[in-house]
Amino acid sequence: MEMEAQGQRYRHKRVVLVPCPFQGHITPMLQLGTILYSKGFSITVIHTHFNSPNTSTHPEFKFHSIPDGLSHDDILSGNAVAIITLLNFNCRATFHECLVQMMKQHHPRDEIVCVIYDEFMYFSEAAANRLKLQSIILRTSSATTQISREVLLKLIKEGYTPLRDPRLQDPVSGLYPLRFKDLPIAKSGMSENYLRLITDTHNVRKSSAVIWNTMNCIEQSSLAQVQQECQVPIFPIGPLHKFAPSSSSSLLKEDTSCISWLNNQAPNSVIYISLGSIASMDKKELEEMAWGLVNSKQPFLWVIRPGSTTNAPQGIELLPEGIKEAVGKNGCIVKWAPQKEVLAHVAVGGFWSHCGWNSTLESIGEGVPMICRPNFGDQTVNASAAMNFKEGLQNRAYNL
Ligand code: UDP
Repeated sequence: MEMEAQGQRYRHKRVVLVPCPFQGHITPMLQLGTILYSKGFSITVIHTHFNSPNTSTHPEFKFHSIPDGLSHDDILSGNAVAIITLLNFNCRATFHECLVQMMKQHHPRDEIVCVIYDEFMYFSEAAANRLKLQSIILRTSSATTQISREVLLKLIKEGYTPLRDPRLQDPVSGLYPLRFKDLPIAKSGMSENYLRLITDTHNVRKSSAVIWNTMNCIEQSSLAQVQQECQVPIFPIGPLHKFAPSSSSSLLKEDTSCISWLNNQAPNSVIYISLGSIASMDKKELEEMAWGLVNSKQPFLWVIRPGSTTNAPQGIELLPEGIKEAVGKNGCIVKWAPQKEVLAHVAVGGFWSHCGWNSTLESIGEGVPMICRPNFGDQTVNASAAMNFKEGLQNRAYNL
């Protein structure tokens, strides 16, 4: 074991983490790394050039960047399904080579005990397996999402046509209150790539376990169902953000000025609005949201991410005049907020959310009621499931 320079603690062996390069995936992976580090493991993060994590917020980890072969156009397309598909093809060899180099150079006490990879980065399993390393999958969306993806695949085989099926408003059998229209469809639509991706993601291959960022108290029946169908043990150890609270892994710079603004607001008065790191809206929706906020006369804190509005690099340039006045009076707009801190703030009384899984867990964790505005993928599933959480957790959710 390796002696730590400052803490005089002995480190166990090394765990290699392979995050999928999107915010909602990087965050839980680095949180898991923080937890494992606190238990004495050394951590190496192997990541793509694209969306590489901010290494300075985790000085205790080692980071290795591997070439990902993505072109400027691939990245500009914003098509997450296409990007992940390419990564699984392009990174296979470079990841294998990176592991080989690490194994050649390591000190006997620093040997790699395990590779933990995001469910979407399944190329990692092949390399780990070839090098006789154990591998474990980290699932970063809900167990209910996994079941609904399986249902979707089955329905597609039976000839189901998403968006046009007459049953869109009907509940899906066994998944109440999930409706057909809530089944997880990619932002880019129902492509061959998407169907292959969700099929490949569910295959555990030779991995020895699944770590899941979820909890039995909200997903007991879904977890029981997926465990029944899974050949390896599943460990629902979430919500990871509650066990690794201090580390930030934001790809965008957090604007902490909104916390000073919240400090001047009455308890439970502010509605916080964020649509996460990928969802986008058009000019019309942005304007409707703006007028809704102004007319509500509630104080609001609104995250408008650069690129979140079609045809507007910053987004805010499309806001109508009226909202600009309201911002001066009772609103605050930022490009990226320290969300966990915001949701924990006493002034925040509601969260208008796109229902990404991390945001959903963070909101439930603070008991903040949600107005759900899901967009695509697992967001529609989470919004529907959030209606079920309200019983046990006093978390109220209203699905728009
Ligand atoms: N987030 C943040 N600041 C913001 C908006 C989002 O820190 O202004 C974080 C949020 O706390 C969450 C993550 O970004 O951990 C978004 O992940 P999620 O799964 O909710 O949605 P996605 O971005 O994957 O759609």
